[in-house]
Amino acid sequence: MKKFLLPVIILFFSCSSNRYATTNRQYKRQVKQLAKEIRHTPLDATKKTWVGTTNFGLRKPDLIIIHHTAQNSCPQTLQTFTTPRTQVSAHYVICRDGTVHHMLNDLLRAWQAGISSWGNDKDVNSSSIGIELDNNGVDSFTVPQINSLLTLLDTLKTKYRIPTANFVGHADIAPTRKNDPNVTFPWKSLADRGFGIWYGDTSNITVPQNFDPLMALRIIGYSLQDPGASVIAFKRHFETVNSDSTINPADEKILYSIMLESEK
Ligand SMILES: [Zn+2]
Repeated sequence: MKKFLLPVIILFFSCSSNRYATTNRQYKRQVKQLAKEIRHTPLDATKKTWVGTTNFGLRKPDLIIIHHTAQNSCPQTLQTFTTPRTQVSAHYVICRDGTVHHMLNDLLRAWQAGISSWGNDKDVNSSSIGIELDNNGVDSFTVPQINSLLTLLDTLKTKYRIPTANFVGHADIAPTRKNDPNVTFPWKSLADRGFGIWYGDTSNITVPQNFDPLMALRIIGYSLQDPGASVIAFKRHFETVNSDSTINPADEKILYSIMLESEK
């Protein structure tokens, strides 16, 4: 009996010490496969026209997409993102207590944006880093969670030189399908720190006569595939309201101000 005890203990220890050991091994295998793809050159083909340049680097992310998980806990989300059949992931998951789980190298492509667009970018997964905040879709975000997010954004903005305007939500890039992060998300606090654009006092703003609100949405980055959905997403983000798709004069002033900011 005794000789079986040690392997059992080791097995038990390895399971309890890291429940993601198996999927972590799977991650390494997949990265190895991708590295093999990068190493591949047409040199091994019969064609002799290949000339490798000496001047290149890695492509880098240029856009940050913020999500809420619409799940009940961080472990539930980690489980979802380590289950192959779900086909969804993100680079980072931030728990309510502020813990940050880095789940994918920033230079690899996560499956977080889905069918979406921002400006002329139609392949958002290829250009962005996805950050998921543990949140059931309704609750407010916690202070430790937002603090961790701000620290992470600071690192990413500096490291990849991400433009100030390029911090948006999933609902901004997929307004017909998504509503995250929910209306309680503190976009203004983020903008105050240089992550996203905002507007000042709009009482003295005069919107030009020929102002076209939908063109403004387009200039900011929103898709016009379903203009009403984009208006709702804009108001959720910049006015922190869940509302309909009407645009009143006060909304117009904000829209005009944000358009000017986005053109800077
Ligand atoms: Zn999302």
